Amino acid sequence: MKIICANPRNLWIINFLAPLRETGDTMNREIKQIEFKDEFTDCPECGYKDGFHSVFKKDGSTTKWLFICPSCHTVFDIGFTVPG
Ligand SMILES: [Zn+2]
Repeated sequence: MKIICANPRNLWIINFLAPLRETGDTMNREIKQIEFKDEFTDCPECGYKDGFHSVFKKDGSTTKWLFICPSCHTVFDIGFTVPG
């Protein structure tokens, strides 16, 4: 997607959208396997401590419940799935 903006005052909108465009190709990124123990709140890649965004990916008859770090955008698989 290409955004053309003639008004420099709207540049902040483009900057805001940039991370969202990055997350758009989440499914093509490397997915890091993590063993889930008691909790999964801190990003092992960058140390971000406020949890993750959810990402869902079809895998045959199940759907993988993946987690993406809001800070470094690394995608993690902790073994969660949802039906359907
Ligand atoms: Zn991170």
